[in-house]
Formats: sequence, C-alpha cells, structure tokens
Amino acid sequence: MGFQLTASDYMEYIERAYQKIHENQDYVTQLDLATGDGDHWSNINMGFEKLVQEANRLKTLSISEELKEIGKIMMSVIGGSSGVLYGSAYLAAAKTVSGKETLGRKELLDVLEAMLEAIISRGQAQEGFKTMIDSLAPAVREYKECLEKNVNDQELCARVEKAAKDGAENTKNMEAVRGRATYQANKGVGHLDPGAITMSYQICTLMDYIAQKL
Ligand SMILES: [Mg+2]
Repeated sequence: MGFQLTASDYMEYIERAYQKIHENQDYVTQLDLATGDGDHWSNINMGFEKLVQEANRLKTLSISEELKEIGKIMMSVIGGSSGVLYGSAYLAAAKTVSGKETLGRKELLDVLEAMLEAIISRGQAQEGFKTMIDSLAPAVREYKECLEKNVNDQELCARVEKAAKDGAENTKNMEAVRGRATYQANKGVGHLDPGAITMSYQICTLMDYIAQKL
C-alpha cells in the first residue's frame, strides 16, 4: 500500500516548500552572493509564489496535468537557468505519470527520476558539478534503494531527507563545473551551492509532508 499523494496534497506540499524557501531569503542570498550574482533566491521564490497564487486552480487537475502546469509556470516565472531546469524537470515528471490520479511510492520515484534525468540532460551537468543535482541524485538513489529493500514509508522519508541534506552539504567541498562559481579562482570550494540548498529544501519538505500524513 503505502502513501498516496493527490493533486491537492501536492499543492499543499508546494505551499510548504514556498514557506521554507521564503523564510530563508537572507541565508540563500548570502550563499549565492559568495559565488554567484545573488539572484537565485528571488528567482525561485517568485516561481513558488506564483504556484501558491495558482494553487486553487492547480489542485483541481489530475496529478499529471498539475505537474505539467507547475512546469510551465516555473519555466516562465523563474528567471535564469533554474527556470528552464525546474520547468523541464516538471514537464518530464508529468509525462512519466500521464493518466495517473495519485502518486504512490513507485510513482513518486518515477517522478523524481524523471526530474533528475531532465535536469542532467538539460543542464548538461552531472553529479559532482556543485549544482542542485548533488542533492537530488543521492535522494533518488536512496529512494530507489528503499523501494528495493521494501523499507517502510516512515523510514523511507527519513532516509531520503537525510540523503538530500547530506548531498547539499557535500557541495561545500566541490569545485564548480557549471555556473558563475567557475569564474572564481578556487571554483567556489568552501561554499555551499545555493541551488543544491533550495533543492534540498524541496525534497525535505516533501518527505516531511508525506511522513506527517502517514
Ligand atoms: Mg544567478
């Protein structure tokens, strides 16, 4: 059995993710100013703000249509490379659960894997490049392993959350291969990647939300 996320649940998660991002304005902006141009927080915050404004409409859709609409909104509202990457991720996720009404354990893995693949291909990036991938990839790996080992939902949520968090933390020691941090002499070593941090906020919020619903 396991958990089932409806379109309405997913928008509730989106609202919580928005709160988490919103309240970390100073922290994320500070991280971004150390290696980038400091606009990451405002870009991603604007995208989530728009999603929250559209929540009442979006939650009436099927889960697949909802993910597609989220992708379109992110693509058009979030500036910079994050908009294209998150937009592509959600469009790919929508496709993978086409026709589904809810997201269960297996469907959510399909969604996360589709997102990861889309971001890797669209960003021409890999794990270890000091990007959002460094939080998402280990989380997807952990999730997959939990399904293979038939780990219960509660433990799955805790393990995926930890993998996302640890992955984001690990960007501190990485040299950037993409983005503005590559212009720096030390390639951003010693600084966390803000994109990995906001990705970890989203994964952790989603796992908390699921765990709380169990
Ligand atoms: Mg920027």
